[in-house]
Amino acid sequence: MRVNLMCPSCAQSQGGVGRWFVEMIREDGLYTGKCPHGHDLLLATQTLPHEMLFEIALNAIYDGYNREAVSSFTASMERFFEFAIKVIAAKRAVTPDAFADAWKQVSKQSERQIGVYVFLYLLDFGVRPIILSHKMTELRNDVIHKGKLPDRKEALTFGNAVHQIIQEAVRQLRSTHLDQVNAVLGQHVAKTAEKMGNTYPRTFQVTSTALNIIDDVTTGYKPFQQIIVARGISF
Ligand SMILES: [Zn+2]
Repeated sequence: MRVNLMCPSCAQSQGGVGRWFVEMIREDGLYTGKCPHGHDLLLATQTLPHEMLFEIALNAIYDGYNREAVSSFTASMERFFEFAIKVIAAKRAVTPDAFADAWKQVSKQSERQIGVYVFLYLLDFGVRPIILSHKMTELRNDVIHKGKLPDRKEALTFGNAVHQIIQEAVRQLRSTHLDQVNAVLGQHVAKTAEKMGNTYPRTFQVTSTALNIIDDVTTGYKPFQQIIVARGISF
């Protein structure tokens, strides 16, 4: 699985017009080494876990690994729930340390996390969030627990459902909790920066992903269909 990066030195030498190059995606979001033109790099991406996992799922479909796609879409959705819960907690002035302490109690069980998500969302917005339908939950369980091999259409239908769950909630969070969305993103970036130590030069960059929390989606978001067409995936 690869990610698009831009070398800041190349961009500078070309008057700000950088060239993208690809690297293997990394869990910690840090990239060191040399760009294709030999510049030393220390790059950090601000990609959130759910954004990265969604990318991995799209790549898996492209490569024909539908089972892995369903698994990564599921992980993406679950990590998004964690992000949303953090945002809602931040709105109530819960400190990151207090949050981390409480999260330990639910961190091992995704069903508990969904429960937290559904009711915090209800409390803040007066409606329950969209979650997986019974049919999609069944598909997920068959794939993850029973070794079912879904076809491409099933993987895409599942991805579409996860995309809607995430983007509808993102739209809601950004419209009423934008400061907290940015604060939680800032915490994530700060954590990545900690791992960079004092090495210079260092840069942060936003990678182009299908889901991007900083996109303004108030007037609607890119349909899933459009995302997969752009990736060269067909139904
Ligand atoms: Zn370069």
